[in-house]
Amino acid sequence: MTEAANHVLVIEDEPQLRRFLRTGFELEGHAVYEAASAGDGIKQAALRPIDLLVVDLGLPDMEGSAVVERVRTWSTVPIIVLSVTSNEETKVRLLELGADDYVVKPFGMAELLARAKAALRRRAQGASPQPVVHAGPLAIDLADRVVRRAGELVALTPKEYRLVQVLAQHLGKVVTHEHLLREIWGRAHSEDHHYLRILVRKVRQKVEEDATRPRLLVTELGVGYRLVDPQER
Ligand code: CA
Repeated sequence: MTEAANHVLVIEDEPQLRRFLRTGFELEGHAVYEAASAGDGIKQAALRPIDLLVVDLGLPDMEGSAVVERVRTWSTVPIIVLSVTSNEETKVRLLELGADDYVVKPFGMAELLARAKAALRRRAQGASPQPVVHAGPLAIDLADRVVRRAGELVALTPKEYRLVQVLAQHLGKVVTHEHLLREIWGRAHSEDHHYLRILVRKVRQKVEEDATRPRLLVTELGVGYRLVDPQER
């Protein structure tokens, strides 16, 4: 499959890691710009045509989260944060600031590229939203509000459908517990995590091959859930 080259800006202060990222993205046919500081990165993000921003959380002059916040004031470019922390609050905060995703160091290039591909595809589809979202054997028809698994209709309650719908609208992206609770039960229930756990279990029993080892509706521990297309991982 040939895809048009995307322009990736990497903001990372460690030269070795920058080189590693450049090589990985270039092998996929992307063009890479590099910045070693937040200040330079923000400047380049404003001046260059960028399709994807990869930013390290720990930068010498500014937190990576501040870069996310700043860039989001004018740009909707997909942002993936590289983080050494697997701290859940930090991840939730990054997503709330407008990051599309995060990978925790040390990460594999394949993992980052899969996340990048998903983010770029969401961006490309943003212009012309797809009425049917595919994730492995699942086809989520957002126009007709039905879900099929290998062609068979899956019987879902309205809340179960709402969960699948919200995740499908963010295919490949983590959706936080709070966001899902707000979307499904309303703002008053944004702390009722047990509602969500029960609902996720029910949906998994209907859509997963083995609900105890989910491959489609994946848990992001302490953060939220993600609907993934297993073929993309
Ligand atoms: Ca760093």
